[in-house]
Amino acid sequence: MNCIFCKISQKEIPAQFVFEDEKFVAFEDIHPKAPVHILVLPKEHLASVLEAKGELIGTTVEIAKKIAAEKKLEGYKLVFNVGPAGGQVVEHLHLHLLGGWREKPGKVEV
Ligand code: AMP
Ligand code: ZN
Repeated sequence: MNCIFCKISQKEIPAQFVFEDEKFVAFEDIHPKAPVHILVLPKEHLASVLEAKGELIGTTVEIAKKIAAEKKLEGYKLVFNVGPAGGQVVEHLHLHLLGGWREKPGKVEV
């Protein structure tokens, strides 16, 4: 399957990983829209949250919370883009973790 996030998960394409376990990975977004911009995703190819069960979505969010805590982010945004009309470009479920602003949060369009 010609999916860039499958290839990153399988280490066929490099990325700056910040987390990995058996089923999930997290890495830095190549075009950051915030001082901290990390993508969290299951290794399994699912097109979007529409294909995912609540438990998998919940684990994705829990991993993002853990990374945010490790990075000592005071506040942050968690964003799932869903479908092209929702701004989703890469059709492999991923959660954007955005943060690291010093004072007020930036307005972001991911
Ligand atoms: P979305 O618009 O929700 O599909 O977000 C896709 C995100 O993936 C964008 O923020 C891109 O900057 C990011 N992205 C695309 N290719 C790569 C890559 N090779 N490594 C890391 N991030 C990527
Ligand atoms: Zn994929």
